[in-house]
Amino acid sequence: MRNVYPIVPHCICYYHMKQNLKKEAPKCGDILQLYKLAAYSYKTKVCDKYLTDISNIHCRAFDYLVDVCVERWSLAYCPEKRYGFMTTNIAEAINSAAKEARKLPITALVEFLRDLMQKWFHDRRKAANKGSSILTDFALEHVKSNQEKSQLCVVQPIDYTKYVVKDNEGKVWTVDLESRTCTCHKFDLDMLPCAHAITVCRHTRVLKERLCSDYFTTQWLQTTYAPSIHQVPHPSSWVLPEHVWVLQIPLKVRCGSFEGEHNCKKDEGEYTVSEVLLKAFSSFSSLGTSAGTIFSLLTPHSERIPYVTVWDPLQ
Ligand SMILES: [Zn+2]
Repeated sequence: MRNVYPIVPHCICYYHMKQNLKKEAPKCGDILQLYKLAAYSYKTKVCDKYLTDISNIHCRAFDYLVDVCVERWSLAYCPEKRYGFMTTNIAEAINSAAKEARKLPITALVEFLRDLMQKWFHDRRKAANKGSSILTDFALEHVKSNQEKSQLCVVQPIDYTKYVVKDNEGKVWTVDLESRTCTCHKFDLDMLPCAHAITVCRHTRVLKERLCSDYFTTQWLQTTYAPSIHQVPHPSSWVLPEHVWVLQIPLKVRCGSFEGEHNCKKDEGEYTVSEVLLKAFSSFSSLGTSAGTIFSLLTPHSERIPYVTVWDPLQ
């Protein structure tokens, strides 16, 4: 991961970490609850408090959480923004949609994913273009919820950008409009105004939308899904360099041309082209893809491919 994405921190999904923690501390609901509170904490001090509670109850669970590295699963300690999103829902959605297709040869899998992206981009573009407000529905809901919490807060200005906000429990917070931060850290990490920042907005008549990250605007959402995903054109129109003429399939495949297939040697664990096709047909029949499509995917230039290259990804 570090080699492929050197500047991206490798964070861990809250849900999957929790599943691992269940094995370290079986039948220990208190630990899971404390872990959730630690993971979702906006302040490092609060996260530390819950970690200490865990260490007092279950040393092995504590060691596991620290060994994995707190920065990878904690919202407060994450070196980059998680925007409050602690689970990998996007990756899970793709994994779930491609559950059956993952059994297919790589070219068929790539075509399946392209087809999926075409549909998702179209549906989301259509939904995004219906948006008429500055913020997305998600951001509007978030701001609305914080606006309700802000009703009983009181503001005391420090200077033109910094304000002290006292909430209904008597707690005091400092909001800085210039740096878009609040001592509750929700404004900083969510990139959307917290209840205290919204209180300042009301006091100063600054628009709440001005304090939201561009990522949460309808315009940004529309731009994200603006590109169209097209069909792969007919193989006859492809312009391919010579080295691509040799097709690589991430299965143990070795054989000659279709005409000479009966002459090829087959070892254990290897498949002939016809067997690969058979596997693809059976897998794709449940996905509603035609046999003709599979054939064109696996044999884009069958007349030019003398051999299907042996490539074992495990070696
Ligand atoms: Zn705040």
